[in-house]
Amino acid sequence: MIPITVVDVRDAEDLVVEVLRSGAIAQGPMVKRFEDAFAHVAGTKHAIAVNNGTTALVASLQALDLAPGDEVITSPFTFVATLNAILEAGATVRFADIRRDDFAIDPDAAAAITDRTKVLMPVHLYGQTADMGKLAPLAAERELRIIEDSAQAVGASFEGRAAGSYGIGCFSLYATKNVTTAEGGVITTDDDVLADKLRVLRNQGMRARYQYEMAGHNYRMTDLHAAVGIPQLEKLDQLTAARQANAKRLSEGLAGTPGLEIPQVLPGREHVWHQYTVLVGPHAMLSRDELAASLTERGIGNGIYYPKIVFDYDCYRGHPLIPGADVNDFPVASAVAAQALSLPVHPHLTDGQLDKIIETVREVLGA
Ligand SMILES: *Cc1c(COP(=O)(O)O)cnc(C)c1O
Repeated sequence: MIPITVVDVRDAEDLVVEVLRSGAIAQGPMVKRFEDAFAHVAGTKHAIAVNNGTTALVASLQALDLAPGDEVITSPFTFVATLNAILEAGATVRFADIRRDDFAIDPDAAAAITDRTKVLMPVHLYGQTADMGKLAPLAAERELRIIEDSAQAVGASFEGRAAGSYGIGCFSLYATKNVTTAEGGVITTDDDVLADKLRVLRNQGMRARYQYEMAGHNYRMTDLHAAVGIPQLEKLDQLTAARQANAKRLSEGLAGTPGLEIPQVLPGREHVWHQYTVLVGPHAMLSRDELAASLTERGIGNGIYYPKIVFDYDCYRGHPLIPGADVNDFPVASAVAAQALSLPVHPHLTDGQLDKIIETVREVLGA
C-alpha cells in the first residue's frame, strides 16, 4: 500500500529526550524556540503556540471581543474545525461559495457581507492560499478582521506574502499536517496588542501569577510537543520542495487523463501541497467513489477531503448560529465535494511510487 500520509518525526529524538531529561515538560523554553522559528516561516512579528489548530481559531475569535450576532464569513468546503471554532466562540456563521480553481472562498461571493459581518475567515485549502489579492482589499474596505484558516498552508504564500500574515493566521500542527507536533496549533500576527492578549488568554487569562485580566482558558502547548516540531521547521524548505516536485511529477503524468481535472497552481501563489486533489468529472469512466475504491484495491492510498458541505449534517441543521444556510446556495462547493479525490503527495514518496500512482489512475480511467 502507498499511504496517503507518512508521519516521520524521528529527527526530533534528541530534542525530545532533552526535554524529558530536563523534567520541565510543560510550556517553557522549547515552546518559545518553536514560536520564534514559526514566526520566521510566517513572516510575522509574533507566533503564539497553542494546543491545537481548532483552539487557535477559537482564541483568535475570542481575542476580537465579538458581540452576540456578529458574523464570521467562511468557506462551506472545509474541515469541520473551521465551523466548530466559530460556533464555540459564539459568533454567527455565514458562508460564501468557493472557486473551482483554488477550492477557497470566491471573493465575489464573499462580497455578500452584511452590516453584522465582522470577520472574514478564508480557508487556504490543500496548501494553496485563497485569492488574498482580492480578499484583503475587500476586508479593508468593509472594515473586517481577517482570520486565515492556514491549518493546511504552512509556508504557502500569495504574491510573496506568507499565509498567516494577512491578519491573524491560524495553523494546525496535527499529525498529518505539513508540520506536526502530534497535536498543536499556532496563531500568527503582527499586532502587538493582539499577541499580548492571546498569550494571556492562552494561560487562564493570567498575566502574572494569580493576576487575572480576563476569563481565559488553558490553550497551552507543551515543551515536549514543541520539541517534536522544531526540526521540521528547520528543514521546512526541503520538505515543501519534495511535495512540490511530487506534485509536478503527478501533474505531468496525469495530464490528459479523460474526465480528470488536475490541480492548478495559480499565478503568484506558492502551493505547499498539503494535499494533491484531483476532480473526477461527470465524463470520467468511473465516479469519484468508484475511482477511490479501485485505487484502494490496487494499493494506492487516497482520501476524500471533504465528502460533504461542512454544515450538511443533522447536528447543524436549524442551529441558531447558522441561520438560513442552504446547500443549494453553494453549487461550486457541492460539485467539488462530489468530485474531489486526494492522492499521495507527501515528501516520502519515491519516484517509483509516483509512477505507480500515475499508471494506476490512468489505467483505471481508460487513458
Ligand atoms: C486540521 C484543520 C483544522 C484544525 O486543526 P486541529 O489541529 O486538528 O485542531 C482547522 N481547519 C482546517 C482547514 C484543518 O485542516
